[in-house]
Amino acid sequence: MSAAAKPRLVMKFGGTSVAGVERIRNVAALVKREVENGYDVAVVVSAMSGETNKLVALTREMSPLHDAREYDAIASSGENVTAGLTAIALDTIGVPARSWAGWQIPIKTDGVHGSASILDIDPKGIEDRFAQGTMAVVAGFQGISPEGRITTLGRGGSDTSAVALAAALKAERCDIYTDVDGVYTTDPRIVEKARKLDKISYEEMLEMASLGAKVLQTRSVEMAMIHRVKTQVLSSFDGQVGADLPGTLVCDEDEIMEKRLVSGIAYSRDEAKITLVKVPDRPGVAAAIFSPLADAGINVDMIVQNVSDDGKTTDMTFTTGKADFERALKVLEDNLHDIRHERVSTDTNVVKVSVIGVGMRTHAGVAQTMFKTLAEKGINIQVISTSEIKVSVLIAAEYTELAVRALHTAYGLDGP
Ligand code: ASP
Ligand code: MG
Repeated sequence: MSAAAKPRLVMKFGGTSVAGVERIRNVAALVKREVENGYDVAVVVSAMSGETNKLVALTREMSPLHDAREYDAIASSGENVTAGLTAIALDTIGVPARSWAGWQIPIKTDGVHGSASILDIDPKGIEDRFAQGTMAVVAGFQGISPEGRITTLGRGGSDTSAVALAAALKAERCDIYTDVDGVYTTDPRIVEKARKLDKISYEEMLEMASLGAKVLQTRSVEMAMIHRVKTQVLSSFDGQVGADLPGTLVCDEDEIMEKRLVSGIAYSRDEAKITLVKVPDRPGVAAAIFSPLADAGINVDMIVQNVSDDGKTTDMTFTTGKADFERALKVLEDNLHDIRHERVSTDTNVVKVSVIGVGMRTHAGVAQTMFKTLAEKGINIQVISTSEIKVSVLIAAEYTELAVRALHTAYGLDGP
């Protein structure tokens, strides 16, 4: 970078922020302010809200069994429209800008169509334009495969485009503009007293995202964590730009002064529970059950194996995502003939509630508080799983709101 190079910023705008011509004009005005603040800006845009769903529906209507390469060609196109419109909007207000499709940069990905991973971004073309005073507007969600075909990064993938581009450009920050003003201690639709967090660590955000908080694509958080990209979630609707950190900053744990035990409560309704009743209690049984599921690409999440009272049989319970549930049953049916079991019982009316916080690493008693709180509300815990910074429980779906509210209070997260 030459001495004269300006600091860089990536500003990403989600579907509701670019939902029409007026919204895109608003985006251009926000970008202009950061350019006036002295930044070279790469803007990353999503498709207008609802567009990608429409495109995906069209591919299904044409044929439910379509080639994933054509799915990507079609699904990625919504972003091309917003990138072009945003560049026009910027030019119109005196900010020179050019649009870039993923392949033009190029954003190189693997060939996993429909949920490709970014392998490499060459920022040279954008940097050359920066040097000439031209800002970049990049179509999010898309890249190019080793075979030279267009790929998409999975639903919500423009977050990942933005963070990856911020890493490649060594941007000062990646600001993700959306329709909420930050990351909350829990879902504000359930808990009125949910509070916006000023900062959250990469690790906590990763858990929040993968456990059901929808504000950032999980992969984008992984990407931010690996490359140490400071990433802010903020609203495009309240007229503020990023420098004063009005949103939630996802950053290193060390940068967070406020010490708290638990940072957030997440929940996921996307759970299904499967129990194999009375399987033999001997070596190799877990391997025989879970290997075929893994081979079929089915993610198994929580697992409990009960102690057998007679030393001969035991119950094995585990959970999968709802989308994998039917397939998991089929895989079991095809593979379990060698393993005796009394029956398979299932329940899709379950929810996983998780408490998350890096404070757990150094403080005991976090799990106990959770169990006690749920017990006081008469909520039965079906399965438990823990990691270094989270405790998750599976409970009946009807208790979701009650559990989340009670836990939010119990961990002192309630705002005014
Ligand atoms: N437009 C894509 C989607 O709806 C990507 C994104 O918005 O992040 O999933
Ligand atoms: Mg999104």
